[in-house]
Amino acid sequence: MELDKLIRDVENFPIKGIVFKDITTLLKDADGFSETLEKLYRLAKDRGITKIVGIESRGFIFGGALAAKLGVGFVPVRKKGKLPAETIAETYDLEYGTDTIEIHKDALTSGDKVLIHDDLLATGGTIQAACKLIEKTDAEIVQISFLINLTFLNGIERIEGYEVHSLIEY
Ligand code: AMP
Repeated sequence: MELDKLIRDVENFPIKGIVFKDITTLLKDADGFSETLEKLYRLAKDRGITKIVGIESRGFIFGGALAAKLGVGFVPVRKKGKLPAETIAETYDLEYGTDTIEIHKDALTSGDKVLIHDDLLATGGTIQAACKLIEKTDAEIVQISFLINLTFLNGIERIEGYEVHSLIEY
């Protein structure tokens, strides 16, 4: 199955000039969903992973499903102010202004081997901040996976040194 055929391009969303890669068309396709999950699972199994960290919000979908399939726990990284208990935070630059992501302080412990999952790698700012956030804990980042890598934006350069996989590249 060609998974890229299930991704819908939506032009000028959320702002003019952006081609948004819409994964909802993949999510609603039962075979597409299960094949995507199976591919992520094959990359991640036998790696001693103990926690999946998913990035708000589309990283929660396959991140959560993958955690269940691997039989490990799921930890959300969320935008500032959404997590109720004590957090640690990381602020990163956007084209205009900054953004902050957070993780619960007690979500990861030493000995945790982490897989970080998000739907899409663009400029790499979000995943770089997520890596910095997790490096502030005692956990180890074992693998980073994306459904989609927009390779022309070179986001991969911001996460050099980590094992990175993506299922679809543009
Ligand atoms: P970046 O920090 O630039 O790598 O952006 C990654 C985050 O923004 C991911 O969480 C994506 O969900 C979202 N994103 C950025 N560009 C797009 C796009 N063209 N289509 C869909 N999502 C995008």
